[in-house]
Amino acid sequence: MFCYQCEQTSRVDGVNGCASAVGNCGKDAQTSDLQDLLIHAVKGIAQYAKRARDLGAGDNDAGKFILYSMFTTLTNVNFNPARFTSMLTEAAEIRARVKKAYEEAAAAQGIAAEELSGAAVWDIPTETNELLAQAAMASVRAGEAEVGEDIVGLRALILYGAKGVCAYAYHALMLDEQSDEVYANLESTMDFLASDPTDVDALVGQALALGHTNLTVMGMLDAGNTGKFGTPEPSAARISPVAGKAILVSGHDMADLAALLEQTAGTGVNVYTHGEMLPAHSYPELKKHAHLAGNYGGAWQDQQTEFANFPGPILMTSNCIIEPAASYRRRIFTAGPVGWPGLRHIENHDFSTLIQAANAMPGFAADSEEESITVGFGRDAVLGVADVVIDAVKAGAIKHFFLVGGCDGAASGRNYYSDLVDQTPDDTVILTLGCAKYRFNKKDYGAIGGIPRVLDMGQCNDSYSAIQVAVALANAFECEVNELPLSLFVSWFEQKAAAVLLTLLALNIKGITLGPTLPAFITPPVLNTLVEAFDIKANTTPEADLAAALAA
Ligand code: SF4
Ligand code: SF4
Repeated sequence: MFCYQCEQTSRVDGVNGCASAVGNCGKDAQTSDLQDLLIHAVKGIAQYAKRARDLGAGDNDAGKFILYSMFTTLTNVNFNPARFTSMLTEAAEIRARVKKAYEEAAAAQGIAAEELSGAAVWDIPTETNELLAQAAMASVRAGEAEVGEDIVGLRALILYGAKGVCAYAYHALMLDEQSDEVYANLESTMDFLASDPTDVDALVGQALALGHTNLTVMGMLDAGNTGKFGTPEPSAARISPVAGKAILVSGHDMADLAALLEQTAGTGVNVYTHGEMLPAHSYPELKKHAHLAGNYGGAWQDQQTEFANFPGPILMTSNCIIEPAASYRRRIFTAGPVGWPGLRHIENHDFSTLIQAANAMPGFAADSEEESITVGFGRDAVLGVADVVIDAVKAGAIKHFFLVGGCDGAASGRNYYSDLVDQTPDDTVILTLGCAKYRFNKKDYGAIGGIPRVLDMGQCNDSYSAIQVAVALANAFECEVNELPLSLFVSWFEQKAAAVLLTLLALNIKGITLGPTLPAFITPPVLNTLVEAFDIKANTTPEADLAAALAA
């Protein structure tokens, strides 16, 4: 096992990566190796799928498999080795199908089909032990002795970014949004990785191209959410429970939540959001359900305590799951790409078992004193008051904007983000998104001209909204985004954040402060390249970084 895809990777004794029997997230070596092998199989599918699509024989079902299987390998998504063995068997079938389609399309057009090698011709075993015996060739570090760690690190940057793009594209797919262009770009990306690339310029170019693809995907996800659930609007989200039976929904998948709200309507069971489901309270078609009772708890890393105390069943719709404690193991359910050995997995949005479990549990005995926070400052809400914001900037009432967002995590250094926001001057506005906001979203930072100083824009994928706001402000002030009084503090943890980072770089956004620690797969020479091209900075202290941002 070797894995260095997330921020909490092991950094002990000079080894940057989880390389023991169990990673810091709880992923065991068997699961980790099977995930690497699944990625290898996806590369093989992509080799044929890309060429078939180039000849007009695209296979979007193969594309959907790529999205789903890549998503399962993200940090804190699927820890069930049995699921990976069965996905590898399915991968072999899909690869055979796209190979046949490619060869038939080539024959029909009088073209000689290429004889592919590597992942395309890997003889995929069906038995777990036989698979594991071949894990070394699929390791993210395979070939490092020949090409060096810088090249392997750049390949990893693309792979992890692609995983994030696939996760967002899967969320969009659940909202009936998909695109031939996105499937084509992802197939090209994985085909590129299958070629074991070594050219630095080509690797950087592919990473930036992937960033552009992710912008398209985040736009699709935005269209899916707003198309199904309406435009987010500033709304009060109750953060104190009410009496009654209760279900808690975590993860990011609004389609799951919508289906659950429909199925619980009129049953007397209340539904609570957890973690990245918080923005649900701002979507008209979700918040119209009176039994969407509130938001419970905070970011993912506190779930073992929070889930243990929740008096009802829990649904994990996507990342970030961590090992369920015995106290709630029998009442936590998974859906979609999520998996944990022994947990009940819900298929096809049929939540009847979950609802039965809620009815069998006590729920909340009494109402707690009402408390709420305001969510729902998506791009329409912010741009709806653009005139007020622009006038406030011109009058000097708003001197600077900060985007402080991304992932949260368990590391103590993540207090950096709450300390930073605490110290921002009163004449500044903070845009936030992702679960990093739980470190400060329940505090009152005041308002400027009636606009709250901290504006919650939603999930991490709502970076799309933040980008649209930045572009609109730049247009209003007739300048480039990089010339705005705007500083970005991106908190990364896992691969969705890697995809968002690539999007920001692809848009040539400069001066991003990235933390709380830099990715282990970014080697010093690669970091130098990013610093020279994009002026990326690593966190230092809130005081120093804030002073530098305000002085820029
Ligand atoms: S996902 Fe992160 S914590 Fe888990 S094994 Fe990989 S690097 Fe380690
Ligand atoms: S923002 Fe990142 S760390 Fe937070 S719940 Fe989502 S995937 Fe996990």
